Amino acid sequence: MQFTDFSLDKRLLDSLKHLGISTPTDVQAQALPIALSGKDLMASSKTGSGKTLAFLLPAMQRVISTRALSKKDPRVLILLPTRELAQQVYGQLRLLVANTQYKAISVLGGENFNDQAKALSRDPHFIVATPGRIADHLQQRHLYLNGLELLVLDEADRMLDLGFAPQLKAINDAADHKRRQTLMFSATLDHESIGDIATTLLKTPSHVSIGESY
Ligand code: ADP
Ligand code: MG
Repeated sequence: MQFTDFSLDKRLLDSLKHLGISTPTDVQAQALPIALSGKDLMASSKTGSGKTLAFLLPAMQRVISTRALSKKDPRVLILLPTRELAQQVYGQLRLLVANTQYKAISVLGGENFNDQAKALSRDPHFIVATPGRIADHLQQRHLYLNGLELLVLDEADRMLDLGFAPQLKAINDAADHKRRQTLMFSATLDHESIGDIATTLLKTPSHVSIGESY
């Protein structure tokens, strides 16, 4: 199986080619059809197995191939537990959006709050963020999630370890509408509150679990 077997926009396939990536990893091969179909997904697969592209490609494809629900709001919000992890994902996303007219920003803890508010007011299509900081901006009404089409929780187990469950729930409530899709990724599924957060955030999700016996 190759990336060209999935219905991905030519610009995405060109970016992958440019990166020298042609064959999907296991988690990509299993997650892509589900995520591209618009279904909610809960996926676990070990570190280094390629989870980032398993959500960035469907995120890009969704934005490219559908009309925005709202002019103002971000269409995709990707949450990660730490600045470092968010910066890595943002770096990969930037390579993919560079080939398109879409705008991506990162909103991370430890950076200037007012600068972030300004960047949020320019209506980016994609936001990569840490949950604490984005919850602060929500509370200050610097962004609205009424038009959010896709919420991604990457490293969900670590976000829970770091105590972000309340922020995840606040973000979920702010983006609570029928047409939202949610994708949740983690390295393991054995965190005790993974099931709780999945029940709260995901709608009848499909499951992908690579290298674990569930
Ligand atoms: P994870 O999030 O599961 O820890 P990453 O998404 O960070 O893994 O990917 C790990 C590395 O594998 C990255 O350097 C990425 O560029 C590379 N990679 C991802 N998908 C593929 C692929 N299909 N073929 C080759 N390399 C890939
Ligand atoms: Mg990862």
